[in-house]
Amino acid sequence: MTHAPSRRQLLAATAAALASTPLWSRAADKSDKTEAPRFTLPALPWDAAALDPVISASTIAQHHGKHHAAYVDNLNRLLINSTLVDAESLVEIIQRSARNEGRRPIFNNAAQVWNHTFYWQSLRPKGGGTPPLELAKRIDADFGSLTALRDATLTASTEQFGAGWVWLVLDKNQKKLAVVKTGNADTPLTQENLVPLATIDVWEHAYYLDYQSRRKDYAAAVFDKLLNWDFVAANLAKA
Ligand code: MN
Repeated sequence: MTHAPSRRQLLAATAAALASTPLWSRAADKSDKTEAPRFTLPALPWDAAALDPVISASTIAQHHGKHHAAYVDNLNRLLINSTLVDAESLVEIIQRSARNEGRRPIFNNAAQVWNHTFYWQSLRPKGGGTPPLELAKRIDADFGSLTALRDATLTASTEQFGAGWVWLVLDKNQKKLAVVKTGNADTPLTQENLVPLATIDVWEHAYYLDYQSRRKDYAAAVFDKLLNWDFVAANLAKA
């Protein structure tokens, strides 16, 4: 019995093969390319229509099937000629491309792949309502009340100028839960002290079909009816 080569060995072998292959040959080989794409679009954790009417099936279909899928495809394409091809994980790619102008396209697409997967997990049908007891106590201690956390979330949603994300995080320096907002693809994963617990996508594509420009109404509906508190509690438990 032989040991299967590790992913790193396979990638190294692939890189060596590509480096020694003339360009015309690489183009000619495209049709019988056998290597699977590095990243694939993760399935939604619920049916596309399951969040209706808070978020419609058509919004989810576009958002997951077009936007999220495009970030995955772009990332796979950009990685082919990047030194980041040796990275072990999506998170490593995000961290190694952050704050690096030359790697900005890879960062944007990698972070958007991760952010969207995290967003789907942050939502669930019949979510919202009262958090589990331990989490509810922690929210009361750090924000004063669930209502105060809700207010902070809606304020961050409306104050985020242009596209971005609103996050519930654990700030390990302050040892407190906090609400933060990030612009475009930016993600708390690049800040060592922040552990993401849940997120709301506030790019227009997340809500425009259902809420037009009423971003605050969308954020309120997500908070009240879709937020997956069990996901928040699980993330906090392992933080
Ligand atoms: Mn989005």
